[in-house]
Amino acid sequence: MIRIAGIIKESITDGEGLRLVVFAQGCKHQCPGCHNPDTHPFEGGSTIQKEEIIEMILENPLLDGITFSGGDPFFQVEAFLQLSLLIREKVTPHFPHFTIMAYTGFTYEKLMESSPIYSPLLNEIDVLIDGPYIQSQRTMDLNFIGSVNQRILNMKETLIQQKPVLYSM
Ligand code: SF4
Repeated sequence: MIRIAGIIKESITDGEGLRLVVFAQGCKHQCPGCHNPDTHPFEGGSTIQKEEIIEMILENPLLDGITFSGGDPFFQVEAFLQLSLLIREKVTPHFPHFTIMAYTGFTYEKLMESSPIYSPLLNEIDVLIDGPYIQSQRTMDLNFIGSVNQRILNMKETLIQQKPVLYSM
């Protein structure tokens, strides 16, 4: 079960291409100026089985990928890991270019240094947008991020090089 604030079946504003977006319910970051305060309570939203999300993906061959947004999916790291593994098992064989992208209010470095529980999910993610929303660094000019401190990371290269590697679009 994944606790979600909602799902958008087709979005062109949450990453490259046409993407299904899963908004995780629950966030502790308390970024001043957050645009999604309704996603903060961990008991809010609703629940969904990961298999239902797989069915939604398979029903739409036009999708380029899935985006985990929030809230912060890393507060449900095990549930999103299980969803990612199921995507690799059920979706990737049919759509090999299907990508997994995730937002988090943690930085990559914070995730890596705070606990090994985050590594398996990071291993399955293609693109990570990391860092909290910082109101004083707000931008409307850059795609997919809300403040200029946030980075769009190529996770495969980041894990190989063991340092943040920016994703080039
Ligand atoms: S991480 Fe995102 S959802 Fe959480 S408080 Fe910050 S801006 Fe809001």
